[in-house]
Amino acid sequence: MKKTYPNEVCPDCNREVVDYYDYYMVKDKIWDEHGCGHGQMHMECLSKRMGRPLSIDDFTDAVVNMKFKQGYLAALIWVDWWQTNHDYIN
Ligand SMILES: [Zn+2]
Repeated sequence: MKKTYPNEVCPDCNREVVDYYDYYMVKDKIWDEHGCGHGQMHMECLSKRMGRPLSIDDFTDAVVNMKFKQGYLAALIWVDWWQTNHDYIN
């Protein structure tokens, strides 16, 4: 597939932001406070700026987020649920 524009470079870690895998949309409030304007950055780097992991409520209802809502975020939430409900393991 031919690219029509170069990938953005994340301002925090200087690595490329890959079109598909790193593409997500967070709510304006989050992006205005912690994001990088018209650029793009990784979710990990954004959450470092925020000082906390992204939660499912930080994402918009945009279709591009469905992959995270169904996969990555679902896993995070599951891990979180597991840890709060199984803290005797620690
Ligand atoms: Zn980054």
